[in-house]
Amino acid sequence: MEQHERSNPRYPEGSVTRVLLHTCCAVCAAACTERLRREGLEPVLFFSNSNIYPREEYERRLAATEKLAELQGLELVVDDYDHEAWREAVKGLEREPEKGARCAVCFDYSFSRTSAYARRHGFDHFTSTLSVSPHKVSRMIFDAGKKYPGFREEDFKKRDGFKRSQELSRELELYHQDYCGCEFSLNEANERKKRK
Ligand code: SF4
Repeated sequence: MEQHERSNPRYPEGSVTRVLLHTCCAVCAAACTERLRREGLEPVLFFSNSNIYPREEYERRLAATEKLAELQGLELVVDDYDHEAWREAVKGLEREPEKGARCAVCFDYSFSRTSAYARRHGFDHFTSTLSVSPHKVSRMIFDAGKKYPGFREEDFKKRDGFKRSQELSRELELYHQDYCGCEFSLNEANERKKRK
């Protein structure tokens, strides 16, 4: 596995408590980073999103995350993108609805990679921006995360986390997608639009 650092580390390892933050997108990350910093932790963004389809959408979300990293002075690590491998992992679950069994495997896929990176690079803890979204069930995220050592159960949607992420993303003019990420969620979003 090969990852690419897109910005220089702001702090030398060991000088502050760094936490690896699995980052699904810039909009969700904006409020999570603010909260972690308020708690005295320094988040390092880990953009690991092989679930996103198509590739152009992945690039848009990555560009927005690079912008956020620049604006907030954050370190960003970009994981490999391998949508074929992700498709293999969710095989047989294609017809599951959002919040169903496919999503649990999807969380597990990203967390296994985040946890492996955290271990190799001396992070004691990792967590995920996914919990800020009201469209995600925090318990499902935590159940996937706790299989891996060092996972922190951060429920970022609490204390108006989602509202804050929307405010910040508007203020910082971050790209805002209108579906979760995979082709199945894209189809569901298109169906919803048609019904309206
Ligand atoms: S709907 Fe979202 S969380 Fe569920 S499998 Fe697709 S990308 Fe992953």
